[in-house]
Amino acid sequence: MANDASTVFDVVILGGGSGGYAAALRAAQLGLNVALIEKGELGGTCLHRGCIPTKALLHAAEVADETREAAEFGVLATFQGIDIKGVHKYKDDVVSGLYKGLQGLVASRKVTYIQGEGRLSSQTSVDVNGQRVEGRHIVLATGSVPKSLPGLTIDGNRIISSDHALKLDYIPKSAVILGGGVIGVEFASVWKSFGVDVTIVEALPHLVPLEDENSSKLLERAFRKRGIKFELKARFSGVEYTENGVRVSTENGKQIDADVLLVAIGRGPVSAGLGYEEAGVAMDRGYVLVDEYLRTNVPTISAVGDLVPTLQLAHVGFAEGMLVAERLAGLKVVPIDYDGIPRVTYSNPEVASVGLSEAKAAEQYGKDKIVTLKYNLAGNGKSKILKTAGEIKLVQVKDGAVVGVHMVGARMGEQVGEAQLIYNWEALPAEVAQLIHAHPSQSEALGEAHLALAGKPLHAHD
Ligand SMILES: Cc1cc2nc3c(=O)[nH]c(=O)nc-3n(C[C@H](O)[C@H](O)[C@H](O)COP(=O)(O)OP(=O)(O)OC[C@H]3O[C@@H](n4cnc5c(N)ncnc54)[C@H](O)[C@@H]3O)c2cc1C
Repeated sequence: MANDASTVFDVVILGGGSGGYAAALRAAQLGLNVALIEKGELGGTCLHRGCIPTKALLHAAEVADETREAAEFGVLATFQGIDIKGVHKYKDDVVSGLYKGLQGLVASRKVTYIQGEGRLSSQTSVDVNGQRVEGRHIVLATGSVPKSLPGLTIDGNRIISSDHALKLDYIPKSAVILGGGVIGVEFASVWKSFGVDVTIVEALPHLVPLEDENSSKLLERAFRKRGIKFELKARFSGVEYTENGVRVSTENGKQIDADVLLVAIGRGPVSAGLGYEEAGVAMDRGYVLVDEYLRTNVPTISAVGDLVPTLQLAHVGFAEGMLVAERLAGLKVVPIDYDGIPRVTYSNPEVASVGLSEAKAAEQYGKDKIVTLKYNLAGNGKSKILKTAGEIKLVQVKDGAVVGVHMVGARMGEQVGEAQLIYNWEALPAEVAQLIHAHPSQSEALGEAHLALAGKPLHAHD
């Protein structure tokens, strides 16, 4: 520890993932004296077991698909298979490069980084490595871990979580994925491209059930075409080991045999046994409860990231961490509009959205006050060049702003930046229609959709 034991830090942060390190970097930038305590690796889930490694796998999967399909573009290439060791090397190089960069950043901001498992010992202190670290303020940022179901034991071998799936040193012949949310769908996409026979089991009526139903249906259509199987409205009822793998059963009587079962039913907060309750912090099912400024009920304690019941996304953690740092430094802060946060599922095809689904908008504004428009990517030159299919769907309040943008198609995740400006600036379709989009680009599809909504469709059939 750089500071001696008598130091009282301005902020002590427990957990060095996206939420915790963002709070640390911003607080230090604003001149606060910061201690950041991390038991594992700086960067947390996103950098080491989440966003970054999965997106590297998805990119390797894309390269595999493009090689297989090269002849469609007149390119002679032969797909010879996946060298899983090579894939891991590529993925691990990406992670370690970013990890080094982040370590350098934290050091350069003069954050006191403490390696060790911490426990909240009072409303103003954390105990770590047998020492007490005191702070005027504490930020809890201990994140989340994969969840399971009662009676479903993740053994790390045949029944695995995303943590194990990212490190699998072989490619299974077949896999059942329990859960058709973002994580399940992304792994299904990667594995299919790697040649795995994949079946997703999802209890709800659709894949990516938090998205607008139109996006879910488009993804399902694309997955069907890719040969990714899925069972919807199928509740998991049990799993048994077979000679070569597992047999997964559902309540509606289906049995699916596979080499491995990936449990991707969500993530739960890391808070048990960390002294939070003892310090008087209000909790709900393990989540730390906060107000719109990320304050807990204890005046000296804030909480951010997956530990609080908001969207479990790295950029939500960044935003929450920065908000807390600025508030503690005395700056004026504005609560986060969680609907305005972009959401991307990086499968093939990608699903990207911001704002309200049609159903939510109808609930909020009334069904007759909502207008929707779908723009098919078949009319978009760049999408045609990429041979991708999909749609952009806009949800507008009648005569008012666009309150939802929902996109499905290759590389649609890259379009979400503009979609987020449209939503967050409460843009009217006519205002967006005035902006000229580069041709041929996929962003043009967003422009075209707004042209159509503004009553002057260009490359669209009336
Ligand atoms: C497979 C997968 C893919 C994902 N992909 C994306 C994506 O593409 N985009 C996206 O935005 N999000 C993605 N996420 C979600 C994202 O990773 C999380 O939302 C984000 O990491 C949450 O950050 P956090 O700081 O709250 O928690 P974490 O990143 O979990 O960090 C918490 C940290 O606290 C540490 N810690 C816990 N307890 C203690 C203790 N007692 N003492 C000291 N340290 C402790 C942990 O070691 C950990 O490093 C993905 C997640 C997974 C699992």
